[in-house]
Amino acid sequence: MKILICASEVVPFAKTGGLADVAAALPLALEQQGQDVVIAMPRYKCISDKRFNTKSLKKGISYSITGKNIKAYFIENEAYFNRDNLYGEKTGDYSDNLDRFSYFCARTLELMKEINFKPDILHCHDWQSCLAIIYLKTKYAKDPFFKDTKAILTIHNIGYQGLFPRGQFPQLGLDWSYFNIEQLEFYGQISLLKGGMVFADIINTVSPTYAKEIQTKDFGFGLEGVLNKRKKDVFGILNGIDYNIWNPQADKVIARAFSADDLNGKAVDKEDLQKLCKFPLRKDVALIGVISRLAEQKGFDLIAQDIEEICKMDLQLVLLGTGDMKYHLLLEGIAKRYPKVVSLYLKFDDELAHKIYAGSDIFLMPSRYEPCGLGQLIALRYGTIPLVFKTGGLADTVSKDNGFIFSQYNKKELLKTIKEAVKAFGNAKEWGGLVKKAMAYDFSWEGSAAKYIALYEKAKTKK
Ligand code: ADP
Repeated sequence: MKILICASEVVPFAKTGGLADVAAALPLALEQQGQDVVIAMPRYKCISDKRFNTKSLKKGISYSITGKNIKAYFIENEAYFNRDNLYGEKTGDYSDNLDRFSYFCARTLELMKEINFKPDILHCHDWQSCLAIIYLKTKYAKDPFFKDTKAILTIHNIGYQGLFPRGQFPQLGLDWSYFNIEQLEFYGQISLLKGGMVFADIINTVSPTYAKEIQTKDFGFGLEGVLNKRKKDVFGILNGIDYNIWNPQADKVIARAFSADDLNGKAVDKEDLQKLCKFPLRKDVALIGVISRLAEQKGFDLIAQDIEEICKMDLQLVLLGTGDMKYHLLLEGIAKRYPKVVSLYLKFDDELAHKIYAGSDIFLMPSRYEPCGLGQLIALRYGTIPLVFKTGGLADTVSKDNGFIFSQYNKKELLKTIKEAVKAFGNAKEWGGLVKKAMAYDFSWEGSAAKYIALYEKAKTKK
């Protein structure tokens, strides 16, 4: 099959979150399973010629090779994409995001014609690439080039919908007739995610539980009705992680490699992390890692409520993340007051993330809702025991057999579960067993990619 992956961020070129990991690892796994894949993404400032050995195809289009021979095409536009960030500044989203991403999507479809790549499947991810689906099914509906192209939309987080003021509709180049509540309108605004959902042949999300949850009022962010109407076309496939990037046996960033059969390296990594954090070098204290966007969705409202009590426990807590200013300020205050307990890094730092996954004992991820979650999967791979709230992909991947899980979203339950985990850590023998068990789980992409291929086949049967 010919597959076009269209995404606004792809590792290693640009990343702000899990979407980039998925949009990178899925194509590689698809290629391994014999599929013909190309990728399209915007060319941001961070994509330098030198670092990624990019080549120019023609004016405004360059590319780089990923995997064995996958071309990742970069849609260039100096004014739109040559900026410091992907979507916005600390103060808010870029005000011309609609123009930026409609340009990206429209140019991507034209590019397919220019390189004569007739996709069987156009696989889009999140609101930023929804316009590729919308254009395919409207402007290009009668174009013979795309007559056999089916569209799949993967929703990585239904909380982010690409909402824009009605007044910007003419900039899309679409007939006003599409601005209605059955298609692109959402309470008087333009909703690109809704448009993608309406026009896609198949909609999927990144875990079976989240696929069910988003069809309910509590999790659907107002789009549950749209999904309900398309119930038969909604699926959930669990994300994997790239086992080459996240591999404790061959990780070049961490102090010492390790495996489930020889955990000595993990102890070295813990000490290395404790040094970095300026924590007392203690083997007997539970070191808890957090790597996350600092947002309520990720459970930071609960963490914030419990933080004083957590800091009074005998543990060490290292946090890496960026996000809401209110959590930056709160955590900065806490880190100053409890320097031996809390170490705080308010930044995006991939290398440090590797060190935290490897050196921590427990990985805290109490998300209020979680489409799939990659942090807990990476943590399991590094024998770092996840502590999570029972929701979405966390519920599908963490259980009492490999972690700690609480099912009432309140501060009392979180605290109780942290205490339970810290106590369990005190029993070295049993803990060692848990670590080995956790490391035996397989969340590589191989199985998930096979499920995507089956989904593509299903899409091909759609009229
Ligand atoms: P999200 O909802 O943010 O996409 P996921 O758990 O699906 O959450 O994926 C987050 C990914 O981003 C993981 O690979 C995680 O390690 C990484 N990550 C998050 N914050 C940071 C950070 N501050 N520095 C480095 N990596 C980070």
